[in-house]
Amino acid sequence: MKYISTRGDRSMVSFREATIKGLAPDNGLYVPVEIPRLDIDFIQSLKSIDNHEIAEHIISAFVSDDIAPADLSRLILDIFDFEIPLIMVDEGIWSLELFHGPTLSFKDVGARFLARCIYRFKETSELLTVLVATSGDTGSAVASGLWKMPGIRVIILFPEGGVSKFQESQMTTLGDNISVIEVNAAFDDCQQLVKTAFADKELNKKVTLTSANSINIARWIAQSVYYFLAYKQYDPDAELVISVPTGNLGNLTAGVLAKKMGLPVRKFVAATNRNRVITDYIQTGIYETKPSVTTVSNAMDVGAPSNYERLMYLYGNDLEPIRADIQSFSFSDENTIRAIRDVYRKTNYLLDPHGAVSYLALREFLNNNKEEFGSGSGIFLETAHPKKFAETVKKALPLIAIPQDISGNKPEKISLENDFQKLKDLIINISS
Ligand SMILES: *Cc1c(COP(=O)(O)O)cnc(C)c1O
Repeated sequence: MKYISTRGDRSMVSFREATIKGLAPDNGLYVPVEIPRLDIDFIQSLKSIDNHEIAEHIISAFVSDDIAPADLSRLILDIFDFEIPLIMVDEGIWSLELFHGPTLSFKDVGARFLARCIYRFKETSELLTVLVATSGDTGSAVASGLWKMPGIRVIILFPEGGVSKFQESQMTTLGDNISVIEVNAAFDDCQQLVKTAFADKELNKKVTLTSANSINIARWIAQSVYYFLAYKQYDPDAELVISVPTGNLGNLTAGVLAKKMGLPVRKFVAATNRNRVITDYIQTGIYETKPSVTTVSNAMDVGAPSNYERLMYLYGNDLEPIRADIQSFSFSDENTIRAIRDVYRKTNYLLDPHGAVSYLALREFLNNNKEEFGSGSGIFLETAHPKKFAETVKKALPLIAIPQDISGNKPEKISLENDFQKLKDLIINISS
């Protein structure tokens, strides 16, 4: 499989090059030249196929030119070494638990695959610096995937006050080749600093930089796998409706990719918090990026979703087919906290704030579409473990005990203003 840019540059690159480069030369995102259609037989017999084999079948359709089958098998055993169970929370309401990986969020799936790819594809003699901005979960997932890997430095930027205590501790206590920078600015500013770094000619002469952000093709492809695992475990008689808590649109567009490969998804629901750029777009047809605002589902505090171009590409820049596949709803912090409380009281199931937003959006969708989706069944993605967000869960359920098994290692972080020159000096310093 070869890859091209969403912006129309037709020069084709390998999976290896698309992964290492991150962005195409015209600043578009990489997409496969064509989307592989999986065999109907394969999709209909998922129930009897082992998870690793499913992952291998899907991923190999994208990477077989660059990773030999035996190596891919080993990689996949290594990456998918945790469960991704589908749990019925309430009548017809299913939670796909994507938080059983090492850093307790769905980001582990894509970040671990990307980390293994970066390590494989790098020249043995070179020192590679992985630069990434995080709203909380990407940083720890990428850091955990690349921790102690020889020849690799990881630099993580996070917004001051924008991540939970648990998330901060996960990133700052690793040490070794992981450097963590707390930026006195919002997540969108962190993302902008990273973009500026990649565009800076002088910096890129001195340091070999690579990105691990949610636009990276390796993360995107790996994330499509669990949509198939959800279907495998789902009620075969129910319509496949999947609610996805949405920020940068990496997760949702990976679902769309799965659908285009042949997964029989009837409807996606894009669930947002007050950062509702995509909800407004789908509801009104007007796409307008906005500065992000802070919410209790902080990993979705995105005002300019970086995978928007991929979404548009997948639907031929046309709103009508997007509307046919995706509905979108947005919820306040108050609603989110209430949902955590109500669901726990009713069912004993503890949602994290992101899962709570996707739960609410699924309910809203099913309520609004009783005639067409009479079975009233659907799946919401539970993207993080509630213990990562103890502060918010405690607001909903003050008496609940949430173990905070935070690492005993001494946390280390560097504080920085929103100043590119200072970041540049730091990157050069850390990478030498
Ligand atoms: C990153 C993240 C999201 C949003 O995913 P996108 O791919 O950015 O849309 C949702 N929930 C959690 C817990 C996350 O870490």
